[in-house]
Amino acid sequence: MKYSKLCEVYEKLESTSKGLEKTKILSEFLKEIENTPELIYLLQGKVFPDYDERESGISIQLAIKAISKATGIKEEIVIKEFKKLGDLGKAVEFLIEKKQQSTLFSQNLTTEKVMNNLRKLPELQGQGTVDNKVGLIVELLHSATPIEAKSIIRTVLSDMKVGVGSGLLRDSIVDFCLKPKNIEEKKQGAELVQTAYDITTDFAEVFEKTCKHKLQSIELSPGKPVKVMLFPKAKDIRDAFEIVGKPATFEFKYDGFRMMINKTNEGEIKIFTRRLDNVTNQFPDAVKYAKENINAKSFIIDCEAVGFNPKTKEYKPFQDISQRIKRKYDINILEKELPIELNIFDIIFYEGKSLIKTPFIERRKIIEKIIKQVPFKIKLAEQIITESEEEAEKFYERALEEGQEGLMVKNLQAPYKPGARVGYAVKLKPDANDFDLIITGAEYGTGKRAGWLTSFDVSCQDEGQLLEIGKVSTGLKEKPEQGLSFIDLTEKLKKLIIEEHGTHVLVKPEIVITVGYQNIQKSPSYSSGYALRFPRFKTLRPDRSKLDIATLDEIRNEAEKN
Ligand code: AMP
Repeated sequence: MKYSKLCEVYEKLESTSKGLEKTKILSEFLKEIENTPELIYLLQGKVFPDYDERESGISIQLAIKAISKATGIKEEIVIKEFKKLGDLGKAVEFLIEKKQQSTLFSQNLTTEKVMNNLRKLPELQGQGTVDNKVGLIVELLHSATPIEAKSIIRTVLSDMKVGVGSGLLRDSIVDFCLKPKNIEEKKQGAELVQTAYDITTDFAEVFEKTCKHKLQSIELSPGKPVKVMLFPKAKDIRDAFEIVGKPATFEFKYDGFRMMINKTNEGEIKIFTRRLDNVTNQFPDAVKYAKENINAKSFIIDCEAVGFNPKTKEYKPFQDISQRIKRKYDINILEKELPIELNIFDIIFYEGKSLIKTPFIERRKIIEKIIKQVPFKIKLAEQIITESEEEAEKFYERALEEGQEGLMVKNLQAPYKPGARVGYAVKLKPDANDFDLIITGAEYGTGKRAGWLTSFDVSCQDEGQLLEIGKVSTGLKEKPEQGLSFIDLTEKLKKLIIEEHGTHVLVKPEIVITVGYQNIQKSPSYSSGYALRFPRFKTLRPDRSKLDIATLDEIRNEAEKN
């Protein structure tokens, strides 16, 4: 297919903010790509499925370099145009347009060529990588019209700006493939397609199977990350019983980070975080515990990895071990200094079969049967089953006394819903006055702090949309030795900048942080309609993504308590 055809779709999508119109544009385009479902990735502004974590490794600086090389325009001029327009895609569009008046060259760029070149980017490693990466982009830009160049640059920077969220894509797949006749059919279709997506996290596969009416054939398969089930918050024990029913399972809520441990049919262990990152190499200890103490040929197990002090055996809060998640070197040292214990609380695949429809109580029986518990290595989540508020209250007190975060309360008969925040289980924890939020923008400091980003715009989520709720500028350290500093965070964010407007930048929403606050007020200053009072940085959450951050509903509930 001609790449220009896809670019026309991007343009149409960008020109409207209405969800229904976007769905219509998308469904019309799906017709064009029915036989080449992989092109749905390009539509999403990607070249791989969502579960695939390969990244282009192209920063804004490299993209500027590529534009300069392809157009023969000096880097300073590209930067100047970028600063003026705030968007590098628009800058390249403008620069090529201007240039073409004199040269006018453009070949027929195809979606296959764009996909091929962009797919090669993550593979390049070793000497000459930077030049080779730039070369692949230059080659595309050479044959691109201004609008195509804009889309190429936006794709390599993973910021399409056309607003194709997973909800819209799901709805357009339903419309195009299932042709629902009424709202009820539409709702049912959306549920089916969403479940298939949450299992596969691959829109090409879901699109193809929905159109061929083969959604039933989508099954879990160990080795591929699955979205984890998420938990809403209950106010207290009574509220928890009301949501999940009686009797219920009460489990310790451990303060670590979530791991999905997979054993494939070939016996290989793979570990994913809840943001679907593969962290197997970072956790040789967890691989060993799973291999030695879980008696099954294949499985997907859901658990919480909790850090402890190797000398005193005291449990540590999450932030003390969070560095293990992204660490690529000295892994053996870290394994000894910051050991973890696995607290297993669920299983969703066992001996070749999916268990997501099996009741929780049966799933628990399986983990009880196959796990050999070894203290400070691998354990089952501690739990009681009760219908008594009093008994639950005592268990809650015990959990807090032992330093746990709180309790999880689970419906005994519930299935497992990957990716969903359904009320099959709820979390219960004392009010900590904090939320996990995502950084969407930042401001450069002045004076002593010039050159560093020192104030961070944070957002919550509402149906896939990110909405600002405050600016965080306290809680970070001045010096890297003291903890996470302005310099550290500036370095992380600089790689994610997608727009610059004077001293303010917009960044790709990738960094999740826990933000403490005193209270929440209604506020017209932020798009969420709320503002956190006295927001304060507490910790980085490298294990979480924008799907895990606080929802507007949760914020509204907390605000109403004030
Ligand atoms: P929160 O991070 O506050 O949204 O709480 C949900 C998280 O608690 C899950 O994603 C798990 O990582 C963690 N967790 C700790 N213990 C349990 C447990 N027994 N069952 C389920 N989740 C747990």
